[in-house]
Order: sequence, then structure tokens, then C-alpha cells
Amino acid sequence: MRIILLGPPGAGKGTQAAVLSATLKIPHISTGDIFRAHIKGGTDLGLLAKSYIDAGKLVPDDVTVDIVASRLNEKDCEPGFIMDGFPRTIPQALMFDEMLEKFGRKIEAVINITVDDDVIINRLSGRRMCSCGRTYHIKNNPPKVEGICDVCNNSLYIRDDDKEETIKERLKTYHQQTSPLVDYYQKKGLLKNFDGSKPIEVTTREILDSLQNK
Ligand code: AMP
Repeated sequence: MRIILLGPPGAGKGTQAAVLSATLKIPHISTGDIFRAHIKGGTDLGLLAKSYIDAGKLVPDDVTVDIVASRLNEKDCEPGFIMDGFPRTIPQALMFDEMLEKFGRKIEAVINITVDDDVIINRLSGRRMCSCGRTYHIKNNPPKVEGICDVCNNSLYIRDDDKEETIKERLKTYHQQTSPLVDYYQKKGLLKNFDGSKPIEVTTREILDSLQNK
């Protein structure tokens, strides 16, 4: 199954993608995670991506499409994938369609998770990350000991792009460049809408039910 997760930053795409990936046994591909791995590794791509990410802007389309193309060439993507955070612009969606056509593959569903901007600002400004991949929230999902991961005991950190000014810029970028994709996939008959302000497990169940009814 090939699935795209669409929605503003902080809608819960990454959280839902991780659960769906484990349940459906298909890889979770997050372009944001790929960029962050490059930033951590100090690669040229990482350096370039960081300048856009820290400003709340999108990494250029050609660079982003190239990293997705090489990831999709890996064997584990043969049975399908969950795309989290890609495509994010209409040109990316067009290039993605072309790429999939070359592989003789099709997208089966586009899961659109919606959440109001004020909820997003609250969620992201309280988000705390651990290097092991776990995510916390200072109010909604705090760790047992402040600032420390419950599982691996590492110190938690704030993503550079979760600062309030950058969050507002990311939301602006989303409304201008990414939200037109809702219409794009609606017209293709692929779009399924979900309310991302519900509890995580409720949204997960609704998504899984809708995928089963396909
Ligand atoms: P995310 O973890 O999905 O919120 O992505 C973090 C940041 O990485 C975004 O704010 C963008 O700067 C960049 N990024 C991730 N995916 C894309 C994409 N498909 N196109 C352009 N930039 C992206």
C-alpha cells in the first residue's frame, strides 16, 4: 500500500506514520527526518537543508525530489510506503506522480490530518524531542522527570524549528505552498480527511478503518 500523509506541521503526521508503518509493515519515509540525519552528519545536503529549515521555509523542490527518488529505489519500498511530509508543493506532487508512473506504481490513499493553527502553535512550542526518536509535550505528554527521556534517560531538546517565530513561518509556508495539495488529491479521488485534534489513538483507529474499507 502506498500512502501519503498530508497536513500542517504539528498535525501528528509523524506520530501516525510511525504507528501505521508498524501496523501495515511498510516503511515510514519522512523527508524531514532524512534532512535532519544529513544535518547531524554534517553533509553538504544537510548544510543546505538547515538554512531553509531553520527559517521555516521549504528545501528546494529538485533537491527534495532527488532524495525521495533515491529512497524509493531501496528494496524495502517495494511493498509500499508511508510518505510523511512529501510532497509539500504542487511541483513536487507532479514530479512524484511522474516518478511513480515510471515505476508502474500508484498512490492508494492520501490521509489529510487537519488541526487549527492555534492548537499547532501550542503543540509545537511545547514539543520536546529525544535523540532516540521519542517525542514529548511539556503539558500534554510530559516525561516522568522534566527534560529527561523516560526510556533512554537522554536529555530532551527543542527542535530548532519549533521556536515560536519559526512555527509561524512554517504555518505560513504550509498555507501558501502545501495546502493546495488538498484540492489536488481531492480531484484525484484519493483524499481522506481526519480531525487531528482528537486523541492520537482515536485518529489512528479512524485512519486504519478507512484504509481497510478501501
Ligand atoms: P518535518 O519534519 O516534516 O516538519 O520537516 C521539517 C522541515 O524540513 C520542513 O519545515 C522543511 O523545511 C523541510 N522539509 C521536509 N519535507 C520537505 C519537503 N517535502 N519539501 C521541502 N522541504 C521539506
